[in-house]
Amino acid sequence: MDINKILQGVECSCGKNHQCDIEYVFIENGAIKRLSKLYPDCKNVLIAADENTFAAAGEAVLSALYNRNVKQVIFSGKNVLIPDERAIDEVNKQLDGVELIVGIGSGVMQDLCKYVSFFSGIPYLIVATAPSMDGYASDGAAMILKGMKETVKAGLPRAIIADTDVLKNAPLEMIKAGYGDIIGKYSALCDWKLSRAVNGEYFCQYIYDTTYKMIENTLNTAKGLLERDEESVKALMEALTVVGIMMSFAGSSRPASGSEHHLSHFFEIVGIVNNENYFPHGIDVAYSTVVTAQIRENILKADFPDKIFRLSDEEYAEKMKGIYKSVAEGCIALQKKVGNYTANRLEIYKEKEKEIREILSEMPSSNEIIKMLELAEFDMTEFYNEYGIEKIEKAVSYAKDLKDRYTVLWLNYDLFGCQ
Ligand SMILES: [Zn+2]
Ligand SMILES: [Zn+2]
Repeated sequence: MDINKILQGVECSCGKNHQCDIEYVFIENGAIKRLSKLYPDCKNVLIAADENTFAAAGEAVLSALYNRNVKQVIFSGKNVLIPDERAIDEVNKQLDGVELIVGIGSGVMQDLCKYVSFFSGIPYLIVATAPSMDGYASDGAAMILKGMKETVKAGLPRAIIADTDVLKNAPLEMIKAGYGDIIGKYSALCDWKLSRAVNGEYFCQYIYDTTYKMIENTLNTAKGLLERDEESVKALMEALTVVGIMMSFAGSSRPASGSEHHLSHFFEIVGIVNNENYFPHGIDVAYSTVVTAQIRENILKADFPDKIFRLSDEEYAEKMKGIYKSVAEGCIALQKKVGNYTANRLEIYKEKEKEIREILSEMPSSNEIIKMLELAEFDMTEFYNEYGIEKIEKAVSYAKDLKDRYTVLWLNYDLFGCQ
């Protein structure tokens, strides 16, 4: 896969001229050394990292930037960094005179730098420390603002520096998370096709096919990843980066994030609200991909009903408050704005039942996905033990309320209601 060729853009049959503003992607052994030659005019650099990511790559970055003025903001590595107002403030305080932000890390650090860079106008690049998620090349920053998980449209990094010598030594759980995030694309791609059928949403076959190819490439890496084989880690990182570029091409995370991501966000948000544990992003996505496959299978087994399911506003708000506590109102307001609570899609479902059923049956079954996950030593019992059936059922019913995106979760709710 020649990523730098894709970066030049694609004149596409979908009617869009796909572009992505990333200038460089280096996924190779020793990639960090490349930093010394990048953006030589930017003499004042701010490094953002946490103690763990700095330990992984900080010295190499400092030595590549030896002839520049470097400031640092290093977060504690003890607790999971939450990309919220407090973290934004910490970075903003250091920005005086800075011409380039160099983030060292993976998901959260990337989101934070992306956000700060966008609103300050100071360019950034990311030195990846783990092949753990697909956000390196996407322009959405997954933030937690006022307690809500929100994907804010923000800028892209100028460059992605992914040193395979660093990546292969990432915690194994983070490598598995990257694998899981890619397996989740089965579900995301299916939701995208579903929404095209139901809502006439924009769709691009090139982006769909390229993303699908990345899942297939990644399946071959499973065994190597567990052994920290450098070629496998490189292939995974390439897949994650290409998927990110596909999101930029699509203009949204649609090709890479659907119902499986909504379930993972449910576990994260409800975890934060109630002080309960949750898995790292890609691990939650991996297990949630099995759940969304089961949802599709259940829909396929049943007849479509004659009436759309709805609770009264009061009953529904009551249930939402029980689950989401302080963030319930925000979710309800979002759905009212989008009109999902009053939408009656039954006519479309009836009219397009055959097409919908075909779309739902195209992707691998839940058992097949479990097998793909087992290749990388995921174990469904870990998932069931952590959350329990009741919480998983609640996620299936209410994760859809977190986002404005139509997925199989809405189809399932429209047809069969909630817990
Ligand atoms: Zn296209
Ligand atoms: Zn993801």
